[in-house]
This record gives sequence, C-alpha cells and structure tokens, in this order.
Amino acid sequence: MNNPFRLNIEGLERVLVSLQQKGYEVIGPRHTDGVIVYDRIHSIDDLPAGFVDELTPGMYRLTNNGSRQFFGYTLPPQSWKRFLYPPRRELFTFRKDGKSFGLAPKEDQTPAYAFVGVRACELGAISIQDRVFSSGDYRDEAYLSARRRNFIIAVNCSHAAENCFCTSTGNGPKAGAGFDIVLTEIVNEDSHYFVAETGSDVGTSLMEGIGAGRADESDVDAAEETIRKACDTVRKSLDTSDLPKLLADNTDHPQWEDVAKRCLTCGNCTMVCPTCFCSTVEDTTDLTGRIAGRTRTWDSCFTMDFAKVSGGNFRISAKSRYRQWLTHKLSSWVEQFGVSGCVGCGRCITWCPVGIDLTAEVSAIKGGATKQESGGSR
Ligand code: SF4
Ligand code: SF4
Repeated sequence: MNNPFRLNIEGLERVLVSLQQKGYEVIGPRHTDGVIVYDRIHSIDDLPAGFVDELTPGMYRLTNNGSRQFFGYTLPPQSWKRFLYPPRRELFTFRKDGKSFGLAPKEDQTPAYAFVGVRACELGAISIQDRVFSSGDYRDEAYLSARRRNFIIAVNCSHAAENCFCTSTGNGPKAGAGFDIVLTEIVNEDSHYFVAETGSDVGTSLMEGIGAGRADESDVDAAEETIRKACDTVRKSLDTSDLPKLLADNTDHPQWEDVAKRCLTCGNCTMVCPTCFCSTVEDTTDLTGRIAGRTRTWDSCFTMDFAKVSGGNFRISAKSRYRQWLTHKLSSWVEQFGVSGCVGCGRCITWCPVGIDLTAEVSAIKGGATKQESGGSR
C-alpha cells in the first residue's frame, strides 16, 4: 500500500459531508425492504451497519448480525449502471406548431455523482461500460459526461459470497484501479476504522482537506490481512482459458438445449448484470398529436421482440437467446471491445429465478460437469 490514510468513523462522516459541500449527489448502500439498494445517502447513519447477505443460485437473503461493520454485505441486486446509464432516459421531444415541426433534444440533467461502496468487480464493470460507450461510431455523451464528473469511493471486500468468482475474471476482491479513494474496513473489539488509499489527485486532496492522518504499519497489516482473507473465501471459479474460442466452436453443443429447458427467458440476468447495455426506444405522442417524444429504455436479448426484424424473428427459441447472451458476454464481447463482458460478480446467478449458473454451463460445455452440477435438477 502506498502511504495510506487512517480514517475513523467520524472521518468517514467528514468525507460524506465534504462531498456534499462540493456539490456531489452522494449515492451509497442503504437497507430498504429487505435488500441493500444503492440510493442517496446523507450521513453514515444511512449506511447498512450489521447487514450481511447470503447469495446462492436463485437466492438472496439479508440478515443483521448486530456488527458495526458498514460494508459487511457483498453485492446488492442493482449495480451502479442504473445511475450512469439509467433504465429510462428521455432523448428528445418533437413538437408540431401550426405547419412547422421542432425537435428539442432533452437536456442532460444527470448530477455529479459520488458513489460510496463500489466493489472491485463493479469498478471492472464500470470500466467495461466506459469502453462500450466511448468506442466506435456511437458514443453515449450523456454517459461519458456523467463519468467525467463521477467521484468513486471503492471498498475492498472482507469476504466473498457463494456466487462470486471475481478471482477468475481478474476483477477482485481487491480494488485495483478506477477509484478516487479505496477503503478497507477494519472492525475489531476495541476499534472500527478504515485504511484509505487514494487513486487520484481529487481523492488525495479530499482526504487532506478533511484532515485525515496517515495509517501506521499495524493498520496496513490489518487491511492486507482483511483482503487476503477475502481472497480465500472466493469458492466459485470460471475457467477462462481459451473461453472465447470454446464457446465460438460449440454453438451446437447439446448443453444449449439442456439450459433452454430450465431458462424462463425472463431477462433478469441481463437486468442485474452491471455490464449489459442493450436498449430500445419507445416513441409516444400526446392526445392532440402535437407533441411526441422518444425515450430510451433498457432492453434484453431475452425479450421476444429483441431479434424481430422486417423479415421475422431470428432468435425464436430459448436456446438461441440464452446462447446469444452467454456467447456475447464471454466470447464475442472480447472481439468487439477487447475485454470479456463478465466481471465475476455472480448477480446473474443470484437473481436467476431457476438458479442457472453460467460457470456451471461453461463447465458443462467444456465437458467437465454433471447435469446436476450445471443446475439441471432445478
Ligand atoms: S438464465 Fe435465468 S435469469 Fe436469465 S433469462 Fe433464463 S431464467 Fe431468466
Ligand atoms: S454475466 Fe453475470 S457474473 Fe458476469 S458480470 Fe454479468 S451478472 Fe456478473
């Protein structure tokens, strides 16, 4: 660690106050209706102290163990994507005035967000979406503007959930890059504090501005031990060696039929995935027919209309839609954007209502899994 700071609980409160004074809308984890959600927070009292989650295929359970730990959960259903790339964005309105027509692009009103509690895998996902929305002929200027004004406080994981496989994708559990500040939370009998490293000049200036002191050697040792233990708790794995080729060469593998018998084509996996970016547009008019509008909404390669073109639908079966999703994510995404589309967060496994686990599907395609291990009994 490079000359980190030590931040006590009052120090974290000063960080949140300072961010708000600088004009950021601060978004962090809160406990709401039995889940952790990323939402507006104002002080450390909003953080979900004591909450821990259990994530298994098709199951999410949140309990409170009474601990003081603010970041003891692993991953909530929603990712930061919903702020940078919102589920609905009005693009423009179209107004008829007498015989003339006027097009009014919708002004971007996205605030400057400060995210608090971004996990290592989520930093990876944000960096993937940065590539998606800044490359090629179609840049998403609203996304890029939100990112330019974005301040990120990451938090290293203290443990992994059953569905996490970030060590296989190289995204966690330690945050590597893409943050302004990264915290490691230390909770023991007589103390509760954070070891904070900075990743940008704005991050360093914020820490100095609130008067944070430097961490000593024992603080750094405690933080490193926390991260080491977190690595040891990652149980799930995905063999990524030659994965793009494996999937591209196996588009007729019988496993696609097998998974299609279980897949409900609900699209949950794409909605919760922090890297999925497909969208569609909806056009609406008012009752007088004088004002029309266009709104972009999230879409999913699992919806029936997604592959509907003038000549018909080229992806009717569940098999073809699941195969499209998995092969894009783990194979053709690499060709398209130079990186895999998966950061190993496991959200698609947790929030799949029938518990389909993409690591088990890949393993079955490689020929190494039994039907039951690949979720066939669910
Ligand atoms: S894999 Fe699971 S979450 Fe995804 S569409 Fe199929 S049933 Fe829904
Ligand atoms: S494919 Fe699944 S595990 Fe990979 S990033 Fe998306 S939600 Fe996470």
